[in-house]
Amino acid sequence: MSAVMWFRRDLRVRDQPALRAALADGPAVALFVVDPRLWKGAGDARRAWLAGTLAALDQRLGGRLVVRYGDPVRVVPEVAREVEASAVHVSAETTPYGRRRDAAVDDALGEVPLTATGSPYAVGPGRVLNGSGGPYQVFTPFAKAWRAHGWVDPAPTPRDPDLVDLDSDDRATRLLGEAAGTGPAGMPTPGEDAAWRRWRHFRDELVTDYATDRDKPAVDGTSRLSPYLHLGVVHPRSLLADLGDVRGQGAHTFETEIAWREFYADVLWHHPDSAWADLKPALQGMRYDEPEDAIEAWRTGTTGYPIVDAGMRQLLHEGWMHNRVRMITASFLTKDLHVWWPVGARHFLDQLIDGDVASNNHGWQWVAGTGTDASPYFRVFNPVTQGTKFDPDGDYVRRWVPELEHLPGKLAHEPWKSDVGYEKDYPLRIVDHAEERTEALERYDAVRGR
Ligand code: FAD
Repeated sequence: MSAVMWFRRDLRVRDQPALRAALADGPAVALFVVDPRLWKGAGDARRAWLAGTLAALDQRLGGRLVVRYGDPVRVVPEVAREVEASAVHVSAETTPYGRRRDAAVDDALGEVPLTATGSPYAVGPGRVLNGSGGPYQVFTPFAKAWRAHGWVDPAPTPRDPDLVDLDSDDRATRLLGEAAGTGPAGMPTPGEDAAWRRWRHFRDELVTDYATDRDKPAVDGTSRLSPYLHLGVVHPRSLLADLGDVRGQGAHTFETEIAWREFYADVLWHHPDSAWADLKPALQGMRYDEPEDAIEAWRTGTTGYPIVDAGMRQLLHEGWMHNRVRMITASFLTKDLHVWWPVGARHFLDQLIDGDVASNNHGWQWVAGTGTDASPYFRVFNPVTQGTKFDPDGDYVRRWVPELEHLPGKLAHEPWKSDVGYEKDYPLRIVDHAEERTEALERYDAVRGR
């Protein structure tokens, strides 16, 4: 009898408690199911990132990763029957869809147990509770309690996992093969080795200045590990442990950013509806617009606001965007174009290779003013002052917007101030920020005054 290790958001071998549990009683099947529900909604970048990550995992497992296409409720029990499995092992899933799906798979497996060991988080969602036994509503006390709760040490890595050979199906193999070639040019290298190389570079070279550099989009100052963390190619617990003796403000801030990821997963655990609905009802009844042309200009990075366009083009080119610019572009869509946040969240989720429903959708709600710990609605980001403050030399803008590369220094943020600002056909501003800010505040007052 074998066990089945069903991989999902835990595509690694190192520090992988569920894989260890699957291998505890003998050989195991390493299975990944290409779920049409998730596959169909994903953009090219996300598919390519997943395909590349699975190829790297397959290599790590000596070519014995089995990929099958279809609804996991049908496919997982089929594979379990094929090998007369004693159990199916997983890392616990915590998103609303993942939880529903796992309950249905568990039912469909009948006598064969679905055993969850570990989760994608250092502290599993739902475990950090306040003095009255309820969830935390705001980040700072959550982070304090999360640190006090602590996490277990990394699990030992199996040296040579004993895996069962089983055929993949043609459809899954073909879809992943096709997707592998369609990623954006600037996508990072997938796989555990690449993730650990990047981590060590960050730990040894960048973390000291992380607290200040993390806000500068032109600087390579953040870990850029979010795509790996998203698919579980590295576990946050492994990183926290490997930070070891590295102390100081940078290391502390990095831990705090990991805590944000855990906080948003916790919020989603307690409020599954907040994936797509306003977490706080404060802005219910707010008037939103659906300006198709303007939304398209936002998506394609042609709004005429340099920092917004640079960010949206980075997203198209790399499937990733700097955190500061995520806030600026999200603010522009929600406050300057008056679009309801789920429209932008959907687009980000389709395009980002780290697209994660908890971090993304609550990040959007933070900017839109509807979330936990939200930025107050009346705080409207000015895309020009944000640009000149965080990209003072204009390097980030010139890197992504070639129509502005002839403008020196911070003039790249204000082409309208230069006689030659538009000589390379950079688009004119699609809206007037000052007017839209006033409009946003009027709409806000209207719902607040009800
Ligand atoms: P680092 O600065 O190196 O941080 C280390 C890790 O901490 C990140 O990899 C990430 O896992 C976590 N982290 C950092 N900041 C945040 C944050 N604000 N919220 C949650 N986790 C954080 N992050 C995602 O992982 N997936 C998303 O889909 C996503 N969408 C976002 C959408 C919006 C509108 C906003 C404002 C933020 C979003 N973030 C998202 C958070 C943040 O932008 C990214 O985690 C970060 O830019 C990833 O780059 P990094 O790995 O270099 O981060």
